[in-house]
Amino acid sequence: MDCLFCKIIAGDIPSAKVYEDDKVYAFRDINPMAPVHVLIVPKCHLASADEVSADNSAYVARIFEVIPEIAKAEGLANGYRVITNCGEHGCQSVKHLHFHLLGGKQLSEEMD
Ligand code: AMP
Repeated sequence: MDCLFCKIIAGDIPSAKVYEDDKVYAFRDINPMAPVHVLIVPKCHLASADEVSADNSAYVARIFEVIPEIAKAEGLANGYRVITNCGEHGCQSVKHLHFHLLGGKQLSEEMD
């Protein structure tokens, strides 16, 4: 499959790994929008949040279980933001479900 994040998970494209287990891979965003900008992805290919279902939601649950661990390891004691962009109107550019973990500064109140 011609998917950038599947290739990163497989190690075919290099990444700055932050966390990995059997269901989840996390790595630093190549174009960080905050002092800490980590992408957290399921190891199964789901194109976006729109493909989450009862069959695969264990991957998403695991992502949200590890987010506090990653945030703690990254020193985000003052808080952070988790975002997933979905589809054209959501400005999703990579078609593999991913959650942006942003922090390390006071983030904007803007949500759009
Ligand atoms: P989105 O626009 O929500 O689909 O986010 C895709 C994110 O992937 C962007 O923040 C990009 O900077 C990031 N990105 C694209 N290619 C890479 C890469 N090779 N390594 C790390 N992050 C990447």
